[in-house]
Amino acid sequence: MNTKFIPLSVPNFEGNEEKYVNDAVKSTWVSTGGGYVTKFEESLAAYVKMPQAVATASGTAALHLALIVAGVGPGDEVIVPALTFIAAVNPVKYSNAEPVFVDCDDYLCMNPDSVLAFLRENCEIRDGRTYNKNTGAHVKAMMPVHVFGNICDMEKLMDIAAEYNLTVIEDSTEALGSYIKTGRYAGKFAGTIGDVGCYSFNGNKIITTGGGGMLVSNRPEWAKRAKHLSTQAKSDEVRFFHDEIGYNYRMTNLQAALGVAQMECLEKFIGVKERNYNFYVENLHGKNGLEILPFRSDIRSNKWFYSVLLRDTDKSTDDILQGMSEAKIQTRPIWKLISDLEPYKNAQRTDLSKAHYYFERVVNIPCTTNLTLEDAKVVADRLLEITE
Ligand SMILES: *Cc1c(COP(=O)(O)O)cnc(C)c1O
Repeated sequence: MNTKFIPLSVPNFEGNEEKYVNDAVKSTWVSTGGGYVTKFEESLAAYVKMPQAVATASGTAALHLALIVAGVGPGDEVIVPALTFIAAVNPVKYSNAEPVFVDCDDYLCMNPDSVLAFLRENCEIRDGRTYNKNTGAHVKAMMPVHVFGNICDMEKLMDIAAEYNLTVIEDSTEALGSYIKTGRYAGKFAGTIGDVGCYSFNGNKIITTGGGGMLVSNRPEWAKRAKHLSTQAKSDEVRFFHDEIGYNYRMTNLQAALGVAQMECLEKFIGVKERNYNFYVENLHGKNGLEILPFRSDIRSNKWFYSVLLRDTDKSTDDILQGMSEAKIQTRPIWKLISDLEPYKNAQRTDLSKAHYYFERVVNIPCTTNLTLEDAKVVADRLLEITE
């Protein structure tokens, strides 16, 4: 039996991380200033082909700033997915706005049919704005989340957004490096299609700065304002002038030093994710009632997280988690629906049957960017043993 612990997803520092962090420490520029923040912003912006990127303290902070610059305020409603990490939705409440939960599609991403169903059945357009007839609220934005490195059906979602005049905030925290290969948005990276896009560099993401985030926008003045707000809205370099209520949402130079090194490894990481994903598909897909959920075929996905679907087995996600844990392999269930959690149990929602289906049946398996094929084989063999 396997004696070594195989983690789900941990940082991989095989590049210049120590070198750049030491450089930052030696320089004593560990907080604001020092050059790495600008370098990191520039390298990410160039990578996703955007003119500017704004580094933040976390992905959550980036999403909060995105909502603010989009003008989402008290009483507004924002369409969000029910099946995702709660950090995508909490910033809606920070802005004193209300989430409306919609279903996922078979890629676990925001379901355009579900969005449309909500808008058609519950909303009306007046003076170019969309209002919820049940609550009277202005439906201001939608927040597609590109779950596990997939990309939402952006052509459909952008068409809906145009029809109903909704701002589109892409939660691209799990999809740095994913881009669309064909169609209207061919060549566009996840996070660069809507009005604003946000990334995260938390410890389990495809690249990490310990904690951190980034915001990009197709509206240069929004990116500029996000930067301003992230640094306490200071309007004068020397004197303490602040022209609005800002936030301490900036990234530190120490974090950014890690980020610059991690960016250098991103494409290599995606290569490993891809290789291991293909291995799992070959060895698990269609066996013992298991499936490996696909990434959309019209995208180059970063293949951040691998999802095993317990399609035709009597084993539950708990059985899998426990069986894997006994073999020292870390796995995790997919998120509980946010709309079922205490803080959101009274929120509006559409039919969520797909989200419920996947919630009952999806388990994530090890996907670290230094996971060897030998380790992946241990994982696959154990899964087959449990589901025999
Ligand atoms: C990681 C993540 C976030 C937030 O990122 P942090 O950097 O941890 O604040 C937001 N949304 C989703 C879907 C995430 O996976």
